[in-house]
Amino acid sequence: MTDRLSPQEWSAAVAAVRELPRDATVLLACHVNPDGDAIGSMLGVGLGLRALGFRHVQASFPGPPEVPEPFTSLPGLDLLVPSSRAVAAPDLMMSFDAASASRLGELADRVTAAGTTVVLDHHASYTGFGKVHLVDPQAAATAVVAEELLHRLGVRLDAQIAECLYVALVTDTGSFKFDMTTPEVHQLAAKLLATGLQPSEITRRVFDTRPFGAVRLYGEVLSRTQLDPDAAGGQGLVWTWATLDDLARHGQHPYVLEPLIDSVRCTAEAEVSCVLKQVAASEWSVSMRSKGANDVRAVAVALGGGGHRLAAGFTAYGEVADVVAAIREQLDTDR
Ligand code: AMP
Ligand code: MN
Ligand code: MN
Repeated sequence: MTDRLSPQEWSAAVAAVRELPRDATVLLACHVNPDGDAIGSMLGVGLGLRALGFRHVQASFPGPPEVPEPFTSLPGLDLLVPSSRAVAAPDLMMSFDAASASRLGELADRVTAAGTTVVLDHHASYTGFGKVHLVDPQAAATAVVAEELLHRLGVRLDAQIAECLYVALVTDTGSFKFDMTTPEVHQLAAKLLATGLQPSEITRRVFDTRPFGAVRLYGEVLSRTQLDPDAAGGQGLVWTWATLDDLARHGQHPYVLEPLIDSVRCTAEAEVSCVLKQVAASEWSVSMRSKGANDVRAVAVALGGGGHRLAAGFTAYGEVADVVAAIREQLDTDR
């Protein structure tokens, strides 16, 4: 599907898997707060490795081991282990959708402890960690790279693997709406659907289902949204924030806030949007989106994070007003 990676990189990745005895230990890991692409690509490859006969495949992610509700029906969940139980020095490690080893949290030490590490990713901010780099910034999702690897390994695409990869693809393309939605993306979607998937059921489960408490929480958080039409050189910045107290009052898990940015970024009067999600006393996980003119990855990188040109994030410390001021300043620096 993609021909932007060098043949050498592909053959190194294929060899890393093919030359491994079937009783070798394999650890798959994806980024903290896994989204559909992270967990879907990881489980899709995990199921593929299992189909090839590998008997000791673990999949894991850092932080709380609970799988976010939208992904609790994905095939291959039995591959998951809490990070505390992840093998310390796997024969092979594969990393999914993480641009830097730090995004793997407490699993980052396996990158060097492993016999070899193959990285599957699509971030332009990729730091180069790992040994074999299947990293294609032109790919719409890590799942695009994952599917190609499975194909080259001779894995038959079954409905279970396809469901994992479909969830990944549909998540990172914003349901086939974003920039990277190329003809190849639709061709891959067609190939995945042809295994017999029910896209309406899958996407209702993953995107269009939310507890009542989360609906009320969204109402409250959206009602405090701020707009500054003068920011970003007059193109406008819109933002809101959600605290741990908001979550507690509505009895919600942090992951229910992941789609919040989609409700904020539709603001007509702003080119750039951001959502601050509190993770500790004065620590925030910041999501940013741009409609095109502004490079939010540059903003995120300047503030210690990463991502894509139109979708990026970072961890911030301090008060909401100070974090927003820092973003404003970077947006202006950028021009
Ligand atoms: P999100 O807003 O969480 O959907 O993330 C958008 C993009 O920004 C993703 O591609 C992430 O990989 C990247 N990103 C989000 N948070 C961080 C962070 N703290 N450090 C590096 N990259 C991040
Ligand atoms: Mn991701
Ligand atoms: Mn991704």
